[in-house]
Amino acid sequence: MVPEARQHVLDALAQYWGYTSLRPVQEEAISLAMSGRDSLVVMPTGGGKSLCYQIPPLIQGRLSVVVSPLIALMKDQVDGLRLIGYPAAALHSGQEQDDQREVWRAVDDGSLRLLFIAPERLLMPGMLSRLARANNGRGPVAFAIDEAHCISQWGHDFRPEYRRLRELRDTYPRAVFNAFTATATPRVRDDIVAQLGLRDPGVLVGVFDRPNLVYRVVPKSSVYAQTLEIVRRHDKEAVIVYAISRKNTEELADFLKGEKVAAEAYHAGMNADQRKRVQDAFAQERINVVVATVAFGMGIDRSNVRCVVHSSMPKSIEHYQQETGRAGRDGLPAECVLLYSGGDVVRWNKLIEMGGEESGASKEWLKHQRDHVGEVQSFAVGAACRHQFLSEYFGQPYQPGVLSAQGCGACDVCLGELESVPDSTVVAQKIISCVARMNRASGGLTFGVGHLVGVLRGSMAKQIVERGHDTLTTFGLLRDTHQAVLSGFVNQLIDMGLLQRTGDQYPTVDLTDASWEVMRGERKVALVSAKVPVAVTGEAEQEPFDTGVFEALRALRAQLASERGVPAYIIFSDNSLRDMARIRPTNAETFRRVTGVGEAKAREFGHIFTSAIADTCANNGLATNQVPKGQPPKRTASAPRPRNPQKATSFEMFKSRANIADVAERVGLALSTIRAHLVDFIETEKPGDIGAWVDSETYRAVTDAARNLSTQRMKFIFEHLGGQVSYDHIAFVLAHLRSKGEAPAGEPS
Ligand code: ADP
Ligand code: ZN
Repeated sequence: MVPEARQHVLDALAQYWGYTSLRPVQEEAISLAMSGRDSLVVMPTGGGKSLCYQIPPLIQGRLSVVVSPLIALMKDQVDGLRLIGYPAAALHSGQEQDDQREVWRAVDDGSLRLLFIAPERLLMPGMLSRLARANNGRGPVAFAIDEAHCISQWGHDFRPEYRRLRELRDTYPRAVFNAFTATATPRVRDDIVAQLGLRDPGVLVGVFDRPNLVYRVVPKSSVYAQTLEIVRRHDKEAVIVYAISRKNTEELADFLKGEKVAAEAYHAGMNADQRKRVQDAFAQERINVVVATVAFGMGIDRSNVRCVVHSSMPKSIEHYQQETGRAGRDGLPAECVLLYSGGDVVRWNKLIEMGGEESGASKEWLKHQRDHVGEVQSFAVGAACRHQFLSEYFGQPYQPGVLSAQGCGACDVCLGELESVPDSTVVAQKIISCVARMNRASGGLTFGVGHLVGVLRGSMAKQIVERGHDTLTTFGLLRDTHQAVLSGFVNQLIDMGLLQRTGDQYPTVDLTDASWEVMRGERKVALVSAKVPVAVTGEAEQEPFDTGVFEALRALRAQLASERGVPAYIIFSDNSLRDMARIRPTNAETFRRVTGVGEAKAREFGHIFTSAIADTCANNGLATNQVPKGQPPKRTASAPRPRNPQKATSFEMFKSRANIADVAERVGLALSTIRAHLVDFIETEKPGDIGAWVDSETYRAVTDAARNLSTQRMKFIFEHLGGQVSYDHIAFVLAHLRSKGEAPAGEPS
């Protein structure tokens, strides 16, 4: 983007959204769209896709059409945009005639910037020609296709009506098409490009890792007690609990209600009204806990979900990513707990088999599904960094070491919550010899994990006694080890190749060659087990805020949301409320410094919130208007938190071409430090040009001087230029030359 365009974008960002910088992929996506290029933007949930299609029409003063699959979400988006003063509207079936006429009038008179519409409606007869009147008869200049993976049958949410979107390209050959999705698989991406007929699209893929999520896998012992404990850890916070079956969701929700937790079940078996009631109550923060099947998904409108619990294992890593992705969409810390038991693996495989029989699916498909289940199992029983596992699964390299010496700092493995089991090798020998003995005693038959665990724990279950396995010398050898922990060990041994799973129909456990090495004592084994987590999230890293004020503002927000019938986060995100509870503004000017407070919201809500803050603070003797001197007036919750968060902020801002003074003000460090950050930024991030900080004439002068003098000594260059160019500018240009490998030899001074 040329500097003026960039400035317009940043101005709009501050004015409407109350944010100070764009995320890197957003900047690229907006730049592509404004230059008229088709694009496919792939970013995880919460990555900030909406801004990418909201900003260009605003800056360019023209109408764009957003194709979106869910009417409920569409309405909320429009409500949210109107609150920030953005001219947006939606066309959908639930609308009154009058409202529709209103929308068309805005389309025709050119006052609208975004029109949301579902694909089936957009492709109704007459609609496209009607739309052609927009933008002075040129029709929509751009189409944004949200949830674009719905067009692909390889995605997890195929919708046949998306297929017809190809007609758009034929009707509006000159319009710009920008597709958006959170689905990471290359096959789906290629399919989107082909199906939509994108032309030479810029493909932008964001970072898939979600650094604000803490992943934990805990052996499942008692689902009810464990779920309750986790939910209680997140008192007053939003929690989604996923369960496999409708019955499970209802039973678990009833149990939680009995424990005085305001929880509701949610599943596809409920009627539309019941579902809507639960969704609204959750979105307006009247209830905090929903126990759901995967049906509770795309329609969830709450960005401050602080915890996602899997009370049963998801059936693929994609599902896991999708479901855990609903936590922490506001960028603040959130926790994802998977309660794992090997029994769920067996259960899924049975369900797949049954489903396969009913639908007559191919052998290949069945195997595919079982492999997916197996991948989740590897994830769960493995003892490698969870962030790394997930990133690599989606094809992105991940180096936890980059962030800190303790790995990612955001998973049970890296947080040191997995204990290595004392005498692991002996435990492994006991398990393996039990397999060998059962095998020998039963004429070579193999048995499932449940049976094996039963024998080791000394269970007198019928099938164990009938087989005479209660007389084996290994019977009851690991009596004191919890059932879930023990099946965890068996799975770890399978993962290490020290045992293997056999049998297609009923998976059983068998020996491998390596089993014998363990039994003969030739091989050491390291097993791990989970211990109870200490800290819930990486909360300590967050800047402190007054929780009393935060809760008071949350209550106010919930009340406003209910009055207006909109989701709470549309009013303000948790991020904004935390900032308010930190700064505690009591006047309009200070209120405007809160992140997420743009002009329209300052006008609409400033008074209500500042007076609530003033009251609460007066009652509790808290100081107000705490804008830390030289501290950033605004902050974002986007990037991972590297070792030096201030430097990270500088980099983030430099990516948006912020000037040095602004960065210094925001980061709260001396100008000289920020200049050093910029040198670093130029060298490591290698921006294509540095026109934002050095004008082209100066750039050329310094480059020529360095080449003529064949040096990087700043003093020589400074003198050569007659003292007309500052040392800082010289340093920036030299850094840029180094980043391009074009600097004269020799160390800079
Ligand atoms: P997605 O559609 O990719 O799931 P959203 O567009 O809903 O993500 O954005 C997620 C959250 O991040 C929203 O609360 C949004 O306001 C916030 N956000 C997006 N871009 C920025 C930014 N540049 N600075 C601060 N917050 C942002
Ligand atoms: Zn980790």
